[in-house]
Amino acid sequence: MASPTTRSSSLRSRRAGVDPAGQHVPAVASTAVRNPGDPPASSLDLPVTRLPGIGLESAKLLERVDVRTMGDLLWHLPTRYKDFSRIRPLRLLAAGEEQTALAVLGRITQRRTARGQLLTEAELLEEDGTPTPVRASWFGRSFIKETHRPGERVRISGKVIWVGRALQFSQPALEAADADPVHTGRLVPVYRLTEGLKEGQVRRWLHTAIEGGPRRTAVVSEVPEPLPPDVRARHTLPDISATLRQVHFPDDERRLFAARRRLAFDELLVLQLALAQRRARWTAQASAMPLQVSDADLARWIGELPFALTDAQRRSLQEIRRDLARRVPMTRLLEGDVGSGKTVVAALAARVATASGAQTALMAPTELLAEQHARSLAALFAAGGPRLALLTASVSGEVRREILDALARGTIDVVVGTHALVEERVEFARLALAIVDEQHRFGVRQRATFREKGEGIDPHLLLTTATPIPQTLSQTIYRDLDISVIDELPAGRLEITTHLRAPEQLPKVWEGVRTAVTRGRQAFVVTPRIDPGDDGGDDVPSAIAMERELARDELRGLRLALMHGRMPAKERDAVMRRFAARELDVLVATTVVEVGIDVPNATVMVVLGAERFGLAQLHQLRGRVGRGSERAYCVLVSDSAESARLAAMVERKPEGSERGGALLDGFDLAKRDLEIRGAGEFLGERQSGEPELRIVDLADVDPRLIDETAEEADRILAADPGLARPEHAELARAVDRLWRRYALA
Ligand code: ADP
Ligand code: MG
Repeated sequence: MASPTTRSSSLRSRRAGVDPAGQHVPAVASTAVRNPGDPPASSLDLPVTRLPGIGLESAKLLERVDVRTMGDLLWHLPTRYKDFSRIRPLRLLAAGEEQTALAVLGRITQRRTARGQLLTEAELLEEDGTPTPVRASWFGRSFIKETHRPGERVRISGKVIWVGRALQFSQPALEAADADPVHTGRLVPVYRLTEGLKEGQVRRWLHTAIEGGPRRTAVVSEVPEPLPPDVRARHTLPDISATLRQVHFPDDERRLFAARRRLAFDELLVLQLALAQRRARWTAQASAMPLQVSDADLARWIGELPFALTDAQRRSLQEIRRDLARRVPMTRLLEGDVGSGKTVVAALAARVATASGAQTALMAPTELLAEQHARSLAALFAAGGPRLALLTASVSGEVRREILDALARGTIDVVVGTHALVEERVEFARLALAIVDEQHRFGVRQRATFREKGEGIDPHLLLTTATPIPQTLSQTIYRDLDISVIDELPAGRLEITTHLRAPEQLPKVWEGVRTAVTRGRQAFVVTPRIDPGDDGGDDVPSAIAMERELARDELRGLRLALMHGRMPAKERDAVMRRFAARELDVLVATTVVEVGIDVPNATVMVVLGAERFGLAQLHQLRGRVGRGSERAYCVLVSDSAESARLAAMVERKPEGSERGGALLDGFDLAKRDLEIRGAGEFLGERQSGEPELRIVDLADVDPRLIDETAEEADRILAADPGLARPEHAELARAVDRLWRRYALA
């Protein structure tokens, strides 16, 4: 087994975040899946086609949900369950509920509906043969008539609805009464599917994998147990095969909870082990450059600013300054609401670095933002200070070569660019401070990259964000992340007037936009999706359709433009630039306008389909306006009147509290968001939907697990720092996989 050190160096030779095998890893703690080099030691490594019922066609479909081996299949966990465990006689069925009846099939008929769909209907009799008016009906499913016979005793599960004056099971699941309950009469698992895979099919395969079948013993019994017995005993955790059995086919809610808690425990424990090992390594090897400045110099720089720093900015700056002076690299998150003035604090940190003879890289999420930062820094450094360069994709040719050369020689002190650019391709003479702006997705990968960059020096890392981290994360992945909070806005900011409106009120809203434009102001119109052809139904506003409609009707004559994520970055930037230069009046866009853009002349933000956005997003969007001295407006348009999130956007802090009567700020809203929605989104690749880690969801099962796993990780590593003992072999493998997958260097 590799030692922790070789593990990390092999990691360094790769780009962060790429799983070397290009493989999906189903769950952090899923020790069932082995590394490419391991010999196939059990059926778990065999292709899924070895399971009765899975042919080549099905295997292809399963690959799309990242299931290739039997092991993968076992770790294809249900996303939810249908509760079909309530069993009732037909005469006691309740409309609107999921439930199960034991019944005898009566006549089964098939016909075509007026729309040409095949409709299969079955009469249902009580168990003792008493006829009832209850029926079951299915669209499609011609096989029902072929596989079931009148007189057969069945279990039938599904939602019951009124059709005319009789109750009806609509699209129910049906099984012979003497068969093992798989689809009916229990808590029934529901799995992530892809087009062509059927719910019942996947459930059947998993049932075979879990319970075995006539031609196959249960593969679940081959899953190796990653937890030593004493750990399981200490935390009362079921063993791994019982856990998987209960997660897929739970006997009851209580056992399901215990199983989910066990999976969460494993996932968190592996993460805590990985992080604890990393901490140990960093502390042993840390070699950041101590960056210092005298009180007098710092006071002079602050005095040269065009405004007085807020107390919160001063406090944050002091915290950063203390960290920078140390040889242990800083990893600090600067949290502050939109407009709270994080840039100037970051700029002063860069100045400290420069004064100590070191280089700083400031990375922004977009080219435009990088340009804006370069401009603000140039202004802040005007009275002498760091030598500054802007490096974006549009800087090319000779100029670019000169900048790269100067960075390598050390004659540029601060470089501003996009994340991608600076991360990937730039060499520095003495990079000692990396600032990552608007890191509100907390990708773990980026942090890894900078640590890899320093040749001998570990750069201090300063991340800025307007989105506070949920506690679950700050206690796990970011346990070693220090946090500074700017919790006050510069004096004299006007509140952004926020309205909730129904779609019927849109004509008035457009009138407002027109008025603002007449006064020389600009407006954003944001929609939840790009194309009217995308998923979501006809009533979800799309940027493309909206821009067309507005240009034709309500906003005819105004200068409109469209911006969305499917446009090439260059085009997007060009549009944004024209908007910033006031060559456009109204920008119709998706959330691409969400991050950090500064157009002080824009005073109206209209969000359509507002119920479809997260609170953090809505708050970021609102923050795009109100950056000038003019009063600004945010109009949230939605037909879901009772959305808790939308209500939170116009809620005010309680009178008598600090800033009582003001709108909830980013921090309040983040807290509210968690209450409403759980912590899921914070780790995720929000756009593509596939979360980076599943921990947060699982940790919701039992928040105490975070501390419990942290303690357990410390205990295990105290006795076995390299996880070299045989009883830790599975854990070591899981940690190894976590490194590879997430590059938590
Ligand atoms: P954010 O925290 O959203 O990144 P910025 O750093 O972009 O905020 O600051 C927003 C605006 O507020 C900028 O125009 C900046 O110059 C200004 N600003 C920052 N700090 C102060 C302050 N203490 N007093 C007045 N204006 C400030
Ligand atoms: Mg900013």
